Amino acid sequence: MRLLVATRSAHKLEEIRAILSDVPDLELVGLDDVGVAASPEEDDLEPYDTFEANAESKARYFHERTGLPTVSDDSGLAVDALDGRPGVRSKRFAPGDLEGLARDRANNRHLVELLSGVPEPRRTARYVCAVALVDGPGPAHLVRGECEGRILDQERGGGGFGYDPLFFIPDLGHTFAQVPAREKHARSHRGRAFRALAHHLRSRAGA
Ligand code: IMP
Repeated sequence: MRLLVATRSAHKLEEIRAILSDVPDLELVGLDDVGVAASPEEDDLEPYDTFEANAESKARYFHERTGLPTVSDDSGLAVDALDGRPGVRSKRFAPGDLEGLARDRANNRHLVELLSGVPEPRRTARYVCAVALVDGPGPAHLVRGECEGRILDQERGGGGFGYDPLFFIPDLGHTFAQVPAREKHARSHRGRAFRALAHHLRSRAGA
């Protein structure tokens, strides 16, 4: 089976390739590999209030453009003391029109400010990742991975990306920015969601 991963990030594609490597007869391709030119419409594919609806919307759009079975993910951080925010708006949490590292830094500062004065036991949060597989006009196959942690009041570590320097895993004793990528993905929301997808694809292949 040829499976399109609806991402333009070579890094994400490699990560997903590693997680799905033990699924038999699976060839993973990215958008650039199949010649899908970037279009401004792509920026508007995730307008919904749930991770699942956004993941499905993106997977369906690229499935319809290519005819290939397509997977897409949508992820973010849900903080309990903020009633689940930033959630599906995790990428553009802090105000302002920033990109890349500057955006990550502004998001982290914004999060620390909003949680200032919130005591440690109430700083619980989880990363969430929804993955949708679309292979025709019927409903998508949806899986979700979650990973529990606490939000620190100061950044720790230089690895990972996004909120990782603030996302502390109590039983690891570190943030996700302090551990090697392999260790992060063994527990991360994305690792869990794509391993659930791998399980589904293996059972489909065996059926
Ligand atoms: P995406 O759906 O994977 O593009 O993630 C949306 C946003 O959620 C990112 O821009 C980050 O702000 C945040 N996020 C998702 N996954 C992670 C993670 O593993 N570490 C840190 N931040 C993440």
